[in-house]
Amino acid sequence: MKFKRAAKYGFCAGVRIADKKVKKFARLGGRDGSILGQVVHNERVVDEMADLGVPTIEALAEAGGGTVVFSAHGVPPSFHDDARRAGLKILDTTCPFVYDIHDEADAAVAAGTHLVFIGKPDHREVIGYTHDRDPATYHVLTTVDEAREIDWGRYPAVKVLYQTTLNADDYEDVVGYIESRTARVSRADTICYATKENQDAVRELGTDPEVDVILVIGGRRSANTRHLWEIGRRFKPTYLVHDIGDLDPEWFAAAATVGITAGASTPDYMIDEVEAAVSSLAAAPV
Ligand code: SF4
Repeated sequence: MKFKRAAKYGFCAGVRIADKKVKKFARLGGRDGSILGQVVHNERVVDEMADLGVPTIEALAEAGGGTVVFSAHGVPPSFHDDARRAGLKILDTTCPFVYDIHDEADAAVAAGTHLVFIGKPDHREVIGYTHDRDPATYHVLTTVDEAREIDWGRYPAVKVLYQTTLNADDYEDVVGYIESRTARVSRADTICYATKENQDAVRELGTDPEVDVILVIGGRRSANTRHLWEIGRRFKPTYLVHDIGDLDPEWFAAAATVGITAGASTPDYMIDEVEAAVSSLAAAPV
């Protein structure tokens, strides 16, 4: 059996930096820290951090003291004040691309523009953008039905921003609907480069005649991993793999070449593990 890895896959620059910052903090003896929300959406990385003495917490109130790490997805600006008021130090690993969207949203609201975030309202990145805002200044949408409920004519201007890890094509109908209701809509191209590159690369695997099956490796809560899977399965059998226990020998029964990709929060060692496990399956006597 042959393996073909996507031209781009796995850790993006933002996640790589977040991972390094937390590991450096732990290495320098920072054992009185905690991470607010998964530092990246990957259970293995979360366990790794806990083993290093930096556990994950779900709310600031759970921080026992010391340092709180803000994840690559970012937090609402008020969380910085809340943390300081609680006597916590902050290790901020928010990705610069996420900060760019905060800035773009602030500038649009200051100019009287209504915001539309295309994304999941309960995703930490989106909560970061919306939590501190007046609810009258924005909507978070994922479906045309949601968009239909809004009287778009009442807004002097509308700006559409995307959660960084989405596949914009999946929401074209939503944004197209808004544009059909008002002419004063602008789109900000906020899907991050790493997401786009990984998505383009899985499309290439999908259209590669040599590839029979695609594996998409990543965390259970990783939105960008799921999107890679959604794209891959449009072309050929594509399976989501969270760990080697998910592998099913049946998937490879007729496969000569296995395409491999991974979400932006998947560490390299996990990809190597999955590839090695599939190799052993192929080598095992039937
Ligand atoms: S996917 Fe993009 S926005 Fe998200 S952490 Fe990585 S580089 Fe930053």
